[in-house]
Amino acid sequence: MPETIFSKILRGEVPCHTVFEDDRVLAFLDIFPLAPGHTLVIPKEPAATLDALSDESAAAVGRVLPRVCRAVMKATGASAYNVLQNNGPDAHQAVFHVHFHVIPKSGAGGLGIVWNAGRLDPAGASSMARAIASAL
Ligand code: 5GP
Repeated sequence: MPETIFSKILRGEVPCHTVFEDDRVLAFLDIFPLAPGHTLVIPKEPAATLDALSDESAAAVGRVLPRVCRAVMKATGASAYNVLQNNGPDAHQAVFHVHFHVIPKSGAGGLGIVWNAGRLDPAGASSMARAIASAL
C-alpha cells in the first residue's frame, strides 16, 4: 500500500490532535473540518479501503466508533451527526488509508448530501441480492 499522510500521523512524524488511541485504532481531529469536532477514526493497519481491512481491525474500529460518536456529540453539543466512509477516488476518497469521518451537524455546518435515490426493482433486486450473498 502506498505511503499516506495517515501513515506519517501514525508514526508521529506529522502532528495531529488525538482524541483516542489504543493498539489498533487512532482517532483525531480532521484538519479541514466540515463542522467543529469533525473527527477521523482510523485503523492502524495500513489498508487503503474498507474491503481490504482485516476482521480484527474492523472489529476494533467498530468497537471504538460509537464511543467517539458519543464523545463528539457531548463535546460539541450536537444532537445529530453523520458517519462517512469513502472508498476509491470516484467515491471522494483522497487519503488511501481507511478512515471513518464523524461529522457533527451544527446549523448549516456538517455534511451536505445529494441523495439521488432510485426505486428498487423487485426482479432486479432478487438477482442482485443473490449475487451479493453468493459473493460473501
Ligand atoms: P477522504 O476524502 O479521503 O474521505 O477524507 C480525507 C480527510 O483527511 C479529509 O477530510 C482531510 O481534511 C483529512 N486530512 C488530510 N490530511 C490531513 C492531515 O494532515 N491531518 C488531518 N488531521 N487530517 C487530514
